[in-house]
This record gives sequence, C-alpha cells and structure tokens, in this order.
Amino acid sequence: MIAMGASKTPATAGPAKCPTCKGSGEVSRAVYVGRKRRAVGQQTGICLTCLGSGEATD
Ligand SMILES: [Zn+2]
Repeated sequence: MIAMGASKTPATAGPAKCPTCKGSGEVSRAVYVGRKRRAVGQQTGICLTCLGSGEATD
C-alpha cells in the first residue's frame, strides 16, 4: 500500500484559502486623505499575501 499526497498537508479538503483575502485574491482597504486621515472610501487592490491567487501559499 502506498499513501499518496497525504504526507505534507493535514486533513484539508482542497486548496487552502488565503486568510487575508479569504480566497478572493483582492483586499479592500480604506483610503485616507488629509492631515486628519479622513476616510474617503475604499480601494480594492491585489492581495499581497497570496499575490492574487486566493490560495494560501504556505
Ligand atoms: Zn490573499
């Protein structure tokens, strides 16, 4: 009997989702302006944890 592919990852179904973007590959962050750092809205950018793949890299 040969166990295949179960030596490295624990019992997890499918690829692990990135905890930062929760698998979306994008993160939204508040945008601040002025000296009072007033929030003017949200900006969506690529997730730097998974580089947009949406999968946990480690
Ligand atoms: Zn991510």
